[in-house]
Amino acid sequence: MSSKVIYIAGKGHSGSTILDLLLGNHPLIISGGEFRSLWKGPDHKKCSCGKEISKCDYWETIRKAYMNALEIKEDQFYQYPVCYVTGGKLRSIPKLIDLLLISGNVRFFNALARKSNYVRKYQQFSVNCWTLYHVMSRINKTDYIVDSSKGSKRLMSLYVTNPENLKVIHLVRDGRAVLHSELKRGRNDVKEIAREWKLINKHSLYSLRSIPLKNKIFIRYEDLCTNTIKVMRNIYLFLGVEPIDSFLLGGWEHHLVPGNSLLRNLSSSETIKVMLNETWKDQLSSETLEIFERVAGKLNKEFGYQD
Ligand SMILES: [Zn+2]
Repeated sequence: MSSKVIYIAGKGHSGSTILDLLLGNHPLIISGGEFRSLWKGPDHKKCSCGKEISKCDYWETIRKAYMNALEIKEDQFYQYPVCYVTGGKLRSIPKLIDLLLISGNVRFFNALARKSNYVRKYQQFSVNCWTLYHVMSRINKTDYIVDSSKGSKRLMSLYVTNPENLKVIHLVRDGRAVLHSELKRGRNDVKEIAREWKLINKHSLYSLRSIPLKNKIFIRYEDLCTNTIKVMRNIYLFLGVEPIDSFLLGGWEHHLVPGNSLLRNLSSSETIKVMLNETWKDQLSSETLEIFERVAGKLNKEFGYQD
């Protein structure tokens, strides 16, 4: 069985966990969550089943099968990461090497990987990731794994190492709703959040230029919430799987690598439905909205979000 990946690209707080869970209703798709946070070190993060990842039987089975596939022993495990271990801060002007990395040019990528330790690490963990996805497909007997990590560097490293088997969903949410969500979490620099929303989505758009049309789809979170059946049918068509009519956010056993608070509050047995939250419309001040408009209003309109 060939393993294929559905990669959710875009900015955090855009509903990627909800989309990941919706996709997981399908018998041929397994929700995976944010793999970029998986096994960075001894894993005390909680899986969506409620147990720590290191104590979750599901992830332990996957981890052992992954080590078997790589023919490595326990003491070598952390030498085969599935994420970039140190991570990096978002820069308003990306380093040239990052631009080359997210350009999706296979020739550049391979040439850089020979010269740069930084790019080589991306290349290496991408190869590890494909091994992991393959193991997960086999164990779960599914065609697709959902990786809702979202970042462009991870996306393009996965793409250049296995372009045929990657399907990308660029998920976008109204930047003002994302801003509201970030402010509620305790951040307070409106300009910085707006810039971040713009930059990350611009990086996604830049990366996606090199991915062929048949391998990418653009989805707005608001459409997913208000017209779930139609949007999900379009996604199933895009993936080439039979459509189903189950759109719950739980009610089956799931083991997602956590990305946000939704998972911490959602046990696998809950079956809540998708709801659109638009409280930002009442709660953001006109001053805050003006700052957002100046920084990111143009791109927000390009995504179809009007006043
Ligand atoms: Zn679990």
